[in-house]
Amino acid sequence: MSNNEKIPFLDLVTPHKELEQELTAVFQKVITTAGFVGGPMVENFEKEFAEYCDAKYCVGVASGTDAVRFPLMAAGVKQGDIVVTVPHTFIATTEAISQAGATPDFVDIDEKTYSMDVEKLKNYLERECYQDRESGKLMHRKHRAPVTAIVPVHIYGQCADMDPILELAARYNLIVVEDACQAHGAQYFSKKENRWRTAGSMGHAGAFSFYPGKNLGACGEAGAITTNDEALAKRMKTIRDHGQAKKYYHDIEGYNGRLDALQAGLLSVKLRRLAEWTKQRQAAAAEYDRLLAKVDGVVAPHVPEWSRPVYHLYVVRVADREGLQKHLAEAKIDTGIHYPIPLHLQKAYEARGFKNGDFPVTEKIALEIVSLPMFPQLQPAAQSRVVQTIQEFSAVGASH
Ligand SMILES: *Cc1c(COP(=O)(O)O)cnc(C)c1O
Repeated sequence: MSNNEKIPFLDLVTPHKELEQELTAVFQKVITTAGFVGGPMVENFEKEFAEYCDAKYCVGVASGTDAVRFPLMAAGVKQGDIVVTVPHTFIATTEAISQAGATPDFVDIDEKTYSMDVEKLKNYLERECYQDRESGKLMHRKHRAPVTAIVPVHIYGQCADMDPILELAARYNLIVVEDACQAHGAQYFSKKENRWRTAGSMGHAGAFSFYPGKNLGACGEAGAITTNDEALAKRMKTIRDHGQAKKYYHDIEGYNGRLDALQAGLLSVKLRRLAEWTKQRQAAAAEYDRLLAKVDGVVAPHVPEWSRPVYHLYVVRVADREGLQKHLAEAKIDTGIHYPIPLHLQKAYEARGFKNGDFPVTEKIALEIVSLPMFPQLQPAAQSRVVQTIQEFSAVGASH
């Protein structure tokens, strides 16, 4: 690879070029049958994706945001409830909670894994809440509202530490919706069950996004929910389709939140490649790990022994993040920041009265993280140039 060729953050063109014929055939089938919404293409994809996630059921929806919102509603989260998540995630997580009528509240993340700190969750539930004797509900002391659900986020494609989260949820009778929007096929070793489990199959439901840049991406907007609970799957199918189980018989007000047949068909084609793409991402991550081990001042991703991540993103930490990004940009290497502003400090949540210092780990890492190029077709030669460029910078950085 030449020294001034651009290294993109993500390449969405190559995989679609490779699959062009198969994808075009899906489009032709859709227009010749005019099966645009629902139907066999959606049902087939749902069956295949449930299987991929080791879950019994899958409900295709219009986006990852719907995929977080619908299971919360279907599992009984109500207006005024509190749903606990992390401030280090994409805003869709908390939008979905608010749109379900609940109030998102936060616990901080672990400094190594960047996902929910289970000790902090335990403290939150034990110290900030009490069990109401009459209703048996877990009430938040200060907010005077019931805490009814937890949304752990499998950030960057690595599962949150689910055993203790599920144990706490069982103890307090809380709903768990995994935000697996970045974690298609990620694995977690459950000590409790002594087996590897798949993202989206551990909580009451798992939420997936097929936004084009995700590990499995549609050619547009799409999402899916996985669950092992048949009744929950049924309620979610009603919610995504205007509250009807039968046409024009509306049990409740629902949403227009269905998965398009076209997207489902395209996703089926791409799903057949996902295991291979995931292996390529894992190989690229291993290559970065190997190259970065020789570079001082760069914190590579931490992978606990209970985790097999799928590397939606490869995120490192450095002291001078802005400087490094600029240096890489000058070498025509694209990078990203996921995410620069913690959710509790976003303008959207200004009225909630959060302040700097509330979630110190999230705040600290938000200043240091930088996402390096990561996609299945990323070549070792490009990775070596990325790391060499980082090395040049840390050598310069160290001499200041
Ligand atoms: C992408 C994403 C979502 C939302 O998915 P959309 O399909 O864009 O609605 C939710 N949570 C996380 C963590 C995501 O990365």
